[in-house]
Amino acid sequence: MPLHYIDGKFTKGGGTETIEVINPATEEVIDTVPRGTPKDVEATVKAAKDAFREWRKTPANTRAHLMHEAAAKMRAHKDKIVHLLTLEEGKPVPENEEEFEWLVNTFDYYAELGRHERGRVLPSGEYSQLNLVLKEPYGVVACIIPWNYPLLLMAWKVAPALASGNTVIIKPSEVTPLSTAYLAEHCWDHFPPGVINVINGFGKEVAEPLVQHIDVPVIAFTGSLATGQRIASIAAPMMKKLHLELGGKDAFVICDDADPEVAARALAYAALTNAGQVCTSTERVYLPKNKAAKFTEALVAHVKELKLGPGLESSTDIGPMIGATYREKVEGQIADAIQHGAKVLTGGRRPQNPQKGYFYEPTILTNVDHSMTIMREETFGPAIPLMEYTDFEQAIELANDCMFGLGACLLTSDPMKAKLFLEEAKAGTVWINDPLTDNYAGPFGGMKLSGGARELGQEGLDSFRETKHVHWEFATTPKSWWYPYGKN
Ligand code: NAD
Repeated sequence: MPLHYIDGKFTKGGGTETIEVINPATEEVIDTVPRGTPKDVEATVKAAKDAFREWRKTPANTRAHLMHEAAAKMRAHKDKIVHLLTLEEGKPVPENEEEFEWLVNTFDYYAELGRHERGRVLPSGEYSQLNLVLKEPYGVVACIIPWNYPLLLMAWKVAPALASGNTVIIKPSEVTPLSTAYLAEHCWDHFPPGVINVINGFGKEVAEPLVQHIDVPVIAFTGSLATGQRIASIAAPMMKKLHLELGGKDAFVICDDADPEVAARALAYAALTNAGQVCTSTERVYLPKNKAAKFTEALVAHVKELKLGPGLESSTDIGPMIGATYREKVEGQIADAIQHGAKVLTGGRRPQNPQKGYFYEPTILTNVDHSMTIMREETFGPAIPLMEYTDFEQAIELANDCMFGLGACLLTSDPMKAKLFLEEAKAGTVWINDPLTDNYAGPFGGMKLSGGARELGQEGLDSFRETKHVHWEFATTPKSWWYPYGKN
C-alpha cells in the first residue's frame, strides 16, 4: 500500500482507515491508500513550513537541477507511471502517454523559467535611488488535484511553485492517488525533506483543513465549481491567495466553409477525449443551419466507428467514465434533454458488453436548446449536443451564453470569422482549427465561473510569486519634505 509522504518519510499517519482505489474499467479494487486525518495535516504543514526556510534561499540554479533530475527519473519510470494512470483513471494508453509528456516537460520548462529572472528594475525617481520589483515565494502551497488528469494538473501547480521557491503539499484526488504516490516513492526522493509532501484522504478531512490552516497562504485547486466555491468561502476572509481552476461548458462553432469529414473528426476528438471528462471538453456544438444535415451525418458515422473499451487495450478509442455517480449525472442530463424534446442519434445508453466498468456509449443529440441542463451545466461525459444557428453573430452569442468561460473552439478557413471569434469569445483559451492543443508557454485558465487562475507560461509562474516593491535611497541625509514642516 502506498503511504503519505511527509517530511521526506513514508508514513501511514495517525489514522487507521484506508481508501480503496477502483479500476473504472473493471470496478475492481487496485490498491488502497491511508485515509489522512486533520492531525496528519498538522504534521505535513509543519514539515512544509520548516523546509520553506531553506528552500526559499536555495539558489534558483540548484532548484532547477533538482527539478530536471526529477524529470529524468520520471522518464526512466515512464512505462510504470503510464500503466498506473491507465489503471486508476481509465483513459486509453495514448492519452496517458500524452499526460506523461506534460508531466515531465512541465518540470523541465519551469526549472528553466524559474532561474531566468526574479523581478525587474524600475526607473527611479532620483539618480541616488534604486527601485526593484521582487518576485518572492509565498511559503507553503496546497495543491488540491482532481482525478481527470492526476499528474498533468499536479505538475502545472507543483513545478512553478517549486521553481519560485515555495514548498508544496499535494492532496491527490482520493479517486486517483496511486500515480502521485509512485512519483513520491521513485522520482522525488532527492529533494530536501519537506519540500514536496503528499497527503492522501478525502476533501473534507484533509483538503479542507489545509484550506483553513493559517500556515498555508496559497490554495491551488483544480476541480468542480461547487468545491471551488466552498474553498473560496473559507479562504477569502483569511485573505489567502486563491488559485482556482474550475468547471467548463465549452462551445465548438463549425462554420459552413468547413469540410464535414474534418469537422466530424475534430468534434469527436474535442468532445470524447478521456470519455468527455476534460475540463475543456466540447460540450455544446453549433452547426450552420444550411449544412447541419451534412455535418451531423458525418459526425454520427465517425462516432459509430469508435471503440469503447478498457484503456489498456490497444484498440480502445474511448475508455470508461471514472465512476457510477459521474455516469448517472450524464444519464440524468440526457434523460432530461429527451424529456424536453431532444433526439438521440447514436448512443444514449450503457453498452451491453462489457457488463462491468463505468462505460457509457458516446451520445449525439439534436433538437437541443439553451433551456436544457445539457446545454447549461457541466456534463463531464461522452455527450455531444448539436444545435443549429442561422448566422455567425448568432453562433457567437450562443457560445457566450454560458456561466463558464474556459475554452471555445472554431472550425473555419475564413480569417474574418476567425478574427471576430477570437475577439468576441469570452473564454480563457480560443482554439481555431486545432481543438484542445495547449502550449507550455501559453497561459491556461478560465473566465467567469471557470475561475480566473492561469497555469503554464510566465503567468503560471507568477501565480506562485508574491510581488514586493523595494525603494532604496543610497544617500542617508534627511529629505527636505520630512518634519518639521514649519522650518522649510
Ligand atoms: P472535485 O471538486 O470533486 O474534487 C477535486 C479535489 O478537491 C479532490 O482532491 C477532492 O478531494 C478535493 N475536495 C473535495 N471537497 C473539498 C473541500 N471541501 N475542500 C477542499 N478540497 C476538497 O472535482 P473532481 O470531480 O475531482 O474533478 C472534476 C472537476 O474538475 C470538473 O468540474 C472539471 O471541470 C474540473 N476541472 C477543471 C480544470 C481546469 O483547469 N479548469 C481541469 C480539470 C478538471
